[in-house]
Amino acid sequence: MRVAIVGAGPAGSHLAHELSCSGAEVFLFDARDAWEKPCGGGVTSKAIAEFAFLGNNGSAKQMVSSLRLMTARRRELTVTPRSDFAIYSRRELARLMRQRATDAGAQLLCEPVGQTTRVDGQWLIETPARQLKVDFLVGADGASSVIRRRVGIRFGQEDFAYGLGWHVEVERPPAPHVEVGYLDGISGYLWLFPRADHLSYGIASGYREATPGELKTRLLGYIERNNPAAAAEIRANSPRTRFYAAMIPALGVTSWERLRASDPAQSWALIGDAAGFVDPLTGEGIYYAIKSASLLARAMASRITDFESMWRDTFGGELRRAAGLSDRFYSGSFAGQPLIERMVQIASRHRGVREVLRDLIAGDQGYIGLRQRLIRSAISLNRNTQHWDTVR
Ligand SMILES: Cc1cc2nc3c(=O)[nH]c(=O)nc-3n(C[C@H](O)[C@H](O)[C@H](O)COP(=O)(O)OP(=O)(O)OC[C@H]3O[C@@H](n4cnc5c(N)ncnc54)[C@H](O)[C@@H]3O)c2cc1C
Repeated sequence: MRVAIVGAGPAGSHLAHELSCSGAEVFLFDARDAWEKPCGGGVTSKAIAEFAFLGNNGSAKQMVSSLRLMTARRRELTVTPRSDFAIYSRRELARLMRQRATDAGAQLLCEPVGQTTRVDGQWLIETPARQLKVDFLVGADGASSVIRRRVGIRFGQEDFAYGLGWHVEVERPPAPHVEVGYLDGISGYLWLFPRADHLSYGIASGYREATPGELKTRLLGYIERNNPAAAAEIRANSPRTRFYAAMIPALGVTSWERLRASDPAQSWALIGDAAGFVDPLTGEGIYYAIKSASLLARAMASRITDFESMWRDTFGGELRRAAGLSDRFYSGSFAGQPLIERMVQIASRHRGVREVLRDLIAGDQGYIGLRQRLIRSAISLNRNTQHWDTVR
């Protein structure tokens, strides 16, 4: 079978690897050489445990063992996941994953895909350099996927978050420590991710919840407190700093229910951001890009009609649940305080709740089953404290 994959990010590159290993003739297109895609580059320990190549490789990456959560009211909590997670430069990750694809036999073509037309039961793919006929078309072309729109799948504005930030070069490798700060009055969070040779600062929130100017001001305020020298470089527009901004899929519950990521009769499928496969609560997308590629490769090797139920059963239910929790998580209150404040406050006192949070961040605890585990922890907490009000 001849397959065209549009987009050589984590989703497209992993699919190209898997399909080439199973004997398909794969054309992997990307408009650019490996590039620094706007992204935090955080790869959870769950992703590393499942896809070993993310941990065992010679690529420059920063392994991280602790994470500090900060609330809008400046409460702090440090959590230590059971195993380390990685912070990648996206250029490095792209190089690594594209190399795996070509080593397995895929043809990587650095050309933007223009028209894709259905002709006599095949797809005609057109780039400035060539025309090519294939049996199957995969859209792995990211959050603003053209292939998605062309096959008739539409997301609304409310199905996106917006993120921006700065990369700041550093002379010495930064400390292997991540910071995440929750925001006052809007959903989302800001972050500091240390990479091998630069700091990655970022902030993300629901689309149009705040203007880009407001997000920049909030993030710069944090950088000023965290690292005044880096803030001064950003303000001076130093060549050692680089600004980035991009959309992140953050599908709502209804969009998850309506979503269709493939059409076997028309021989197309979507994976990764193109399909909206991102955790709407945390913005984690690299794992779901690779996971959806892996499921699609399995479906294409057996029964392509199974792909819809495979992604829904494996992670679709989880991500739909995350979408349902998102409002409550960011805007809800508990025992008279914003939920996030209470959560950090209680977790800093109570090991059981802290462990739930640790596992949630690492990806070891899903959203389904989270409530029950929290209730179990809360019952034991209540036994110790009698009243929530005593927890200060
Ligand atoms: C600010 C921000 C921070 C993030 N932080 C994290 C994080 O820390 N951890 C995490 O897990 N996720 C994070 N994400 C999400 C993550 O970046 C994505 O989920 C992930 O990159 C999706 O991979 P993908 O392969 O589906 O798409 P992409 O990585 O976007 O790759 C798509 C590729 O398609 C190519 N392309 C597009 N159109 C065409 C065309 N017409 N022809 C040829 N090629 C084309 C592009 O050049 C690109 O290389 C973040 C996102 C943003 C915006």
